[in-house]
Amino acid sequence: MTSSIPAPPIPHSLSRRSRLPQVGTTIFTVMSALAQQCGAINLGQGFPDFEPDGALLDAVTRALHAGHNQYPPMAGVPALREALADKIESLHGRRYDPGDEITITAGATQALLTAILAVVHPGDEVIVLTPAYDSYLPAIELAGGVARCVALDAQFQPDFDAIASALGPRTRAILVNSPHNPSGRVWSAADMRRLGELLAPTDVVLISDEVYEHMVFDTRDHCSAAREPLLAARSFVVSSFGKTYHATGWKVGMVAAARELSAEFRKVHQFNVFTVNTPMQWALAEYLRTHQRAYLDLPGFYQARRDRFRAGLAGTRLRLLPCEGTYFQCVDYAAVSDLPEADFCTWLTREIGVAAIPLSAFEPTPQEARRVARFCFAKREQTLDAALQRLSAL
Ligand code: PMP
Ligand code: GLN
Repeated sequence: MTSSIPAPPIPHSLSRRSRLPQVGTTIFTVMSALAQQCGAINLGQGFPDFEPDGALLDAVTRALHAGHNQYPPMAGVPALREALADKIESLHGRRYDPGDEITITAGATQALLTAILAVVHPGDEVIVLTPAYDSYLPAIELAGGVARCVALDAQFQPDFDAIASALGPRTRAILVNSPHNPSGRVWSAADMRRLGELLAPTDVVLISDEVYEHMVFDTRDHCSAAREPLLAARSFVVSSFGKTYHATGWKVGMVAAARELSAEFRKVHQFNVFTVNTPMQWALAEYLRTHQRAYLDLPGFYQARRDRFRAGLAGTRLRLLPCEGTYFQCVDYAAVSDLPEADFCTWLTREIGVAAIPLSAFEPTPQEARRVARFCFAKREQTLDAALQRLSAL
């Protein structure tokens, strides 16, 4: 029998010296745990409840058995970088050099943190448009930067006058996310051009989070920073295979950036993760070449789910907000409840059996009067229908 030895008390000074004193556990982890505990249908954390294409899984198996199991080159498997260079060129008309300008990362989260660590010096300002994905502010803080939060307008569209006012001599970078998590808004070509015009007289770096690049609806186009001539040379373009190929757990992403920016990125990347798991990269390289329809058909695939989910929600007292892209649908629940956003989502999970994410989780300071929650519709039809059945009780 083993007897347990009590752990020694942790000295107070250790926790007082936290690098991220304000940060707790992410809302996605918290809500997924609550959903599991309550047996709720999890429309909170963004991930599909269906499997990647069998052809992609077979490609992974082949790569594993073909001996692709040791370190790949630091920047990633060349075949994958070449396939990405071709893909970006065909979609956006800009050729990135696969040798020097494309790096494979451990998901978009690592790409974003690494890009920030690579360019932001202590005291530099980084403009963040809020609501914003929850990794941005801690990443800036870890770099010693100062986040300048600029609110998107009431329709979650960019407020270019406010962005212009926030730009100053200390601004080092701006983070933009389109299609946008959580609102589902998509920036137009005119929006990207306007941003390009604002940044043209500055040396501000754009970190463009484009992880939902292939989820744009109603014949909209995804306007990558790679496509906008005023932006491309100053941008890190970040994406994630997890979103496009229904494999969020693989944690493989990429960053495309001009040579000088990529060189700085790789200086950090090599000591951050050095490189990313090999067989997945080989499989993705093969699949990108042989299954282009997988990303070309993704808008239609998710639009059908969005439409089914919205049609069901239209019969409830939840008010639908626009969803132009991503796999998130936001609703205004003011007609149902006056609870603040976080409390409402906890109540909805416990009492109605459907987990959602409060928009307040994407804000540095909650907007007290707003009543908006986010659902993820990357789910099987029966999951969406079961959730709608429960939500119809509201
Ligand atoms: N940015 C946004 C806007 C996201 O929604 C996500 C989703 N997790 C990420 C970055 C991170 O992507 P990954 O899982 O590839 O790290
Ligand atoms: N991006 C996903 C979302 O917004 C979650 C990612 C995570 O759990 N860190 O739901």
